[in-house]
Amino acid sequence: MIAEIIAAGSEMLTPHRQDTNSLYLTAQLNELGVQVAFKTIVGDNLGHLTGAARNAIARADIIIFSGGLGPTEDDLTREAAASALGVELRRDNTILTDLHKRFAARQMAMPPNNAKQADVLDGATVLPNPNGSAPGQIFDTTVDGFRKIVILLPGPPGELKPLFLQLVKPVLAATLPPRHIARRMLRMALIPESQVDARTAPIYKRHEDIETTILAGHGEIQLHFIAAKSTAIEAQARVDELAGLIEAEMEEAIFSSQGESLEEVVLLMLGLRHLTLAAAESCTGGLLASRLTAVPGSSRYFLGGAVVYSDQLKTTFTDVPAELVATEGPVSEAVCRALAEGIRRRTGASIGIGITGIAGPTPGTGPDAEKPIGLVYVGLADGRETRVKELHLTGDRDRVRWWASQHALELIRLSLLELQSF
Ligand code: ATP
Ligand code: MG
Repeated sequence: MIAEIIAAGSEMLTPHRQDTNSLYLTAQLNELGVQVAFKTIVGDNLGHLTGAARNAIARADIIIFSGGLGPTEDDLTREAAASALGVELRRDNTILTDLHKRFAARQMAMPPNNAKQADVLDGATVLPNPNGSAPGQIFDTTVDGFRKIVILLPGPPGELKPLFLQLVKPVLAATLPPRHIARRMLRMALIPESQVDARTAPIYKRHEDIETTILAGHGEIQLHFIAAKSTAIEAQARVDELAGLIEAEMEEAIFSSQGESLEEVVLLMLGLRHLTLAAAESCTGGLLASRLTAVPGSSRYFLGGAVVYSDQLKTTFTDVPAELVATEGPVSEAVCRALAEGIRRRTGASIGIGITGIAGPTPGTGPDAEKPIGLVYVGLADGRETRVKELHLTGDRDRVRWWASQHALELIRLSLLELQSF
């Protein structure tokens, strides 16, 4: 069973309006175990809309139209669906009477145009719409020996949603075989998408009944798995099996298998090991602290830190020797190391983090003048050793700062993984 959604409306082909109805309908259909295979946005043009309707009827089992049921010239969904299905439109007297009543209740005469809102695909079931003037329709038919369920819904989300929920979903649920959806998500940080793809694709090939999606962005890769089965237990077992195999392949690259953020995972790991953290941030200006403190309860493990943006504060707040800053430059491995060790000593935290870099777009000055924009050092001091990573990040200022904070979190996570948890 696959579905296609056709969103009718020229406004959604402009930069100003988005088709959000199809997102809602997709979520609802997924709950019924129906995958959406196609989504089409079509302008208010009878030829285009009829063409889209024909394609959809040929390739999908459930076809849902959103919008174009209004009274105006450009509301053409009824005509297009009728023409694509080869059925007549019949004027429904009950709807017509209701329309007249709606207008009468507002002391208005109904404009003649509105009468077309009473046109129904011959054989369709009418879905009364208490929130607007255009009713929806369900037309359950057979085309070339295949069952097709064609559904017309009004465009305003406040009308479409209740109509779908109250009058369409129960009908679909009753006619479709019982399907249950289970989902899993695995998250990884700072690993190239191509590498994840190369290592996971052979595993996916053995699970073609599971829908897999890879989403990459902000220094994170998410793998989403969706299974639709006749029982909830079966669906869950299937996604869990795939997740388990991917976890075995990607090992510690996966930071979360239950949806937690990288910040949450780091704080959880600190808690399990009874350790605390503090950070001295230069180019990230407190972004790491901000991300950590956004997690409720973080104060137990994240003590705090300092934004040491100027050379002087690096010295006064984190004891970085002034001559080190002068000779090596504030963006250097040696200064990063001193920041991590300095903040650890000053705060008494188990782990100290230092971050220094050139976020751009303006280059560094003094000893840093020749260093490239995007050069960032992230350091971690835990009392046993201090490790410093040199990064060459690309992109604008926001991206460099975000990725620096992401690298810092991942450095903490990986170093905590090496420690026994109890
Ligand atoms: P109406 O009787 O209001 O004309 P209609 O069924 O013809 O109803 P449209 O004219 O297509 O619907 O859209 C009416 C309103 O609903 C517009 O404000 C439009 O932006 C919004 N709308 C239409 N389609 C969508 C969609 N797919 N996603 C979100 N909003 C939509
Ligand atoms: Mg309209």
